[in-house]
Amino acid sequence: MEDKKKLQRREFIKKVGAGSLVAGGLAAGTTPVRAARKRFNWKLTTTWPPNFPIFQDGVKRFAKDVKKMSGGKLNISVFASGELIPAMQTFDAVSQGSVQMGHGAGYYWIGKIPAAAFFTAVPFGMNAQGMNAWLYSGGGLALWREIYEPFNLVPFPMGNTGVQMGGWFRKKIESVADLKGLKMRIPGLGGKVMAKAGVNPVLLAGGEIYTALDRGTIDATEWVGPFHDERLGLYRAAKYYYYPGWHEPGPTLELTINREAWEELPKEFQLIIENAATASNLWMLSEFEARNLDSLHTLKNKYKVEVLEFPADVIKQLRQYTAEVLDEEAKKDATFKKVYDAYNAYRKTNDAWNAISEASYAKALRL
Ligand code: CA
Repeated sequence: MEDKKKLQRREFIKKVGAGSLVAGGLAAGTTPVRAARKRFNWKLTTTWPPNFPIFQDGVKRFAKDVKKMSGGKLNISVFASGELIPAMQTFDAVSQGSVQMGHGAGYYWIGKIPAAAFFTAVPFGMNAQGMNAWLYSGGGLALWREIYEPFNLVPFPMGNTGVQMGGWFRKKIESVADLKGLKMRIPGLGGKVMAKAGVNPVLLAGGEIYTALDRGTIDATEWVGPFHDERLGLYRAAKYYYYPGWHEPGPTLELTINREAWEELPKEFQLIIENAATASNLWMLSEFEARNLDSLHTLKNKYKVEVLEFPADVIKQLRQYTAEVLDEEAKKDATFKKVYDAYNAYRKTNDAWNAISEASYAKALRL
């Protein structure tokens, strides 16, 4: 009897609740259905060259998904770097609202936000799996949103290359001493670490790397991994290709959205963007994982590239320099320290679990 009464009461509340929702919505003129009827024509500018495989393709794929899922009402036009906005002005363009969306990598903006490096890649830091776990489930994304908020930007993880290659060198690297005096294209914190080894780090956009290496303006460069490095033709300018990419162990790419534009969207469109970005994050990583080895074989067998592992002493020394660089940066900037502390706290958990799961499994396969 008591249960029946409760049930009736629940049914009553449901009906009244639903009715008042419709009435309230109509009065305000902003029911989700009406808002969804509005059409949005947005622009997205990227930091990548036109037709750049995986990155630019992944962004176009994302825009297509969003259009389909929104029934054609959220239409995002994608522009490559320079078509609308130069690559390195993407952050400002989205922040100021000249375009609604941008795609790139957080560590391009370390001149404005040194801590942004943590949301892309840290030398000897977490790999793609660790980064995704930290961002989605370990508080990393909430912290990222907090750090970008004063810049009027809402960030989303969207893309990951997996562990990159260490780079192309015109001579063999057998000790740390061999690094001294080299001019190398290597951005971000990786460049600062290399500077401690006596390297002169330089910043060059993708399109300038081949010519600089070929002419000897630089002695070495990192870029991405076999799939992209083959396309850039770097094997024609240097013969020694080193691994692993200690400086970029699982770089996360970012989708940024202008805050006012984001807040103007109906909730269901926000959800579409969030889910399409997450799908794209997985798609880009999967493409890299699936394609890199074929390109590595081509580089080795067809173009006679020597693929070499960095000597253990070099890696150990670079790890030591990395710890020094991170501590120095943390002393210079309070936000950097805040994100560094959060990253390290999560990383400890990640490493401890990894030792029992992934690392232990990798060891089991070698026994
Ligand atoms: Ca790189």
